Order: sequence, then C-alpha cells, then structure tokens
Amino acid sequence: MKLTILGCYAATPRTFTNPTSQVLEIKNHLFLIDCGEGTQVQLRKYKVKFSRINHIFISHLHGDHFFGLPGLISTFRLLGRDKELHIYGPKGIKQAITLFLKLGDSWTNYPLIFHELESKESELVFEDEKVTVRTVPLIHRVYTNGFFFEEKEAPRTLDIAIARKFGVDKSQFNNIKKGMDGVDASGKTIPNKKLTLDPPEPKSYAFCSDTVYNEAILPIIKDVTVLYHESTFLDSEEHLCEKTKHSTSKQAAQIAKKANASLLILGHYSTRYKSIELFKKEAKEVFPVVELADDGKVFDFGN
Ligand SMILES: [Zn+2]
Repeated sequence: MKLTILGCYAATPRTFTNPTSQVLEIKNHLFLIDCGEGTQVQLRKYKVKFSRINHIFISHLHGDHFFGLPGLISTFRLLGRDKELHIYGPKGIKQAITLFLKLGDSWTNYPLIFHELESKESELVFEDEKVTVRTVPLIHRVYTNGFFFEEKEAPRTLDIAIARKFGVDKSQFNNIKKGMDGVDASGKTIPNKKLTLDPPEPKSYAFCSDTVYNEAILPIIKDVTVLYHESTFLDSEEHLCEKTKHSTSKQAAQIAKKANASLLILGHYSTRYKSIELFKKEAKEVFPVVELADDGKVFDFGN
C-alpha cells in the first residue's frame, strides 16, 4: 500500500502548495482521491501513469476538491483513452461534469461512469476479490464523504519446505493451498495450519476530509492502519471550526486515538500558517504517531 500526496492544502492553489488530491496504490489499483485544480500537472510531476487510473473518488463539491476533474477527464480523451473511468462523488457531480463536456462539445470517447452518492450512512461503493471501498459520511458545509479502503484477508500460503519436512507429497499441494489438511507417508493427518504461513495483516486507509470533529465515524474506521484526517486549523483557531466545519490537528489526533489507528497523517492545512510543523507538534500531544502530508510526499506502507 502506497500513498502519494499530490496536494494537501486548503482553499486556493499557490506557487508551492496545491489543493487536495492524492493517489492510493492498493492491491494493484491506483485510486485517485479528490481532484483539486492542478491535479493533472501534479500527476505528471510525480510520474503517476494516467492509464492506471480507473477509479476517482470525490469527497465533496467544493472547488479545492474537484475543480481539476473536468481537465483531467478531457486530457484522458486527448490521450486516446478507451477504458472505462468510474467516478464516485456527491449527487450533482454528473450534471456538473456533463455540462462542461456538453458546452465544449467534447464528449469523451471512453465510457464515463458516475456513481452518485447521497446516503448519510456508510455504504459499500467498490469491491473486487482483494479490496473494498466504503464511504465515511462526514460533516461539512456541503454533503461530504470520506472513503475507507480496506484490503481483504489474503489466503494462507503453502510452506513447501515445511510440507516436505512433514513428508507430505506434492500431489497434495493444491488442496493444501485451498485449505485442506495434508497426510504424511504413514497416513497421519497434518493440520493445514502447520503446513501454511499466516497471510500478511490486511491494511486499510481512511481518507477523512473535510469535516468537523465527528465521533460518528469511529465505528467505520476502527483499527485503521493509516488515517488521513484533515487539520485545517491549529488549536488557536479552534473557534473557527464550527462555522467553517473543519477540524484542528488536536481533534484529528483525538479521532486517530479513539479509532485505534496505527498512524495519523495530517493535511488540508489552512494557508494562513507559515509552517506546518506546529500541526504535528500539537497532534502529538494527543496521539504519538503523526506524519505531515506535503505535496509530492510518498508514504510507502509495504506489501
Ligand atoms: Zn470543503
């Protein structure tokens, strides 16, 4: 699982800071999460292959989270894309994007499939044999969802050396891989667990931006491996959270702590602050394992 931050600042794009967009690589998928203005430039800059993006998840329809989408869709067309592109986002996104395409007489020559969201409950929006994606309903000034990406538990793997040691014939290997027990030369049963290795612990990633402090998301993201939670403000601006429906870094840390996350990544910083180091300092007073997102930063969580 690998996360590339393309942009992680609030509001307007600036010379050295970009609005929200990130790429999550998980079980051979490249999921694009949010698509602020300039996302396609950032994708080029950090050498993300356009052709590997087949699913785009949009949290909400504020410009700093989706104004890059019409441009990216249009570029896909110019690059001669023919594969389906799936877009998951709030109801209205289809109307917004199709109006752009219609006025410019630039319909895509590839299938553009919208999955419009309007539920206030968490729902399963994507599933294949290795990964699921669920929405995380957030509380913001407009209808907003975070997304919870979760690997499925992989099957146990056969330990050939151990199987040989037990005298299990290789004709049984396929059955053992399917979960059956083995039998040695004397006819004694060897339990499957003794002949196979534990699969790696499934990893998960929760993207939570934009939102006020909201404990209702805890059951959905419980025990998450990596939590990205917005921290627009420092503690000194906490009074702005209720009006703007954003969080402080300390509140993000409280969510990480209560969700039993292994790692918290902060982002969506207000551009009023000169340095982002203080976000980490304040969050660490509440939760020990904190990283700062920054444009171009890559987090590699291994296989
Ligand atoms: Zn917003």
